[in-house]
Amino acid sequence: MDHETRNRMNDEKKYVVIVDRLERRGVTELDIADITYHLQIKYIPDLEMDVCLDHVKRVLKKREVQNAILTGLELDILAEKGMLSEPLQTIIASDYGLYGIDEILALSIVNVYGSIGSTNFGYVDKVKPGIMGELDDKTNGTVVNTFLDDIVGAIAAAAASSIAHKYADADFDTELYKKQ
Ligand code: MG
Repeated sequence: MDHETRNRMNDEKKYVVIVDRLERRGVTELDIADITYHLQIKYIPDLEMDVCLDHVKRVLKKREVQNAILTGLELDILAEKGMLSEPLQTIIASDYGLYGIDEILALSIVNVYGSIGSTNFGYVDKVKPGIMGELDDKTNGTVVNTFLDDIVGAIAAAAASSIAHKYADADFDTELYKKQ
């Protein structure tokens, strides 16, 4: 087995672990696809939920994305258990507004998808649609979702950008076809 094949298999295995871990934290792939749908429906009126779900899955299979998710979720879980040392324990457990590293980590997810990714993330970070709002409300020291809400927003924004790129390519191909 060559290096590339082995790495791909690892990414597939990590994907299964990540989907399971997100579900344990109360987030399904469909919750994320729902945010993606709301981000893209303005631009693609005949967009279907299945397409959004498919792109969410693709995003979750990317190694850079997986690494960010694993790191953020771990910090939320450790903070929830009171296992971090101070002052980080209090900062993360109380979702301190000026901490900012949760957003930085989330940006590492959207950066894979270029500037549309960052724009989409900026929007959902402000509006906190769907499950993001619910997660944000739950953070109270007993339940810690400091990283999770940003991670969910970033995955949704990345999937929206992935769809936008795909449709832009399709439009471009159509134009070329017309010119022939
Ligand atoms: Mg946060």
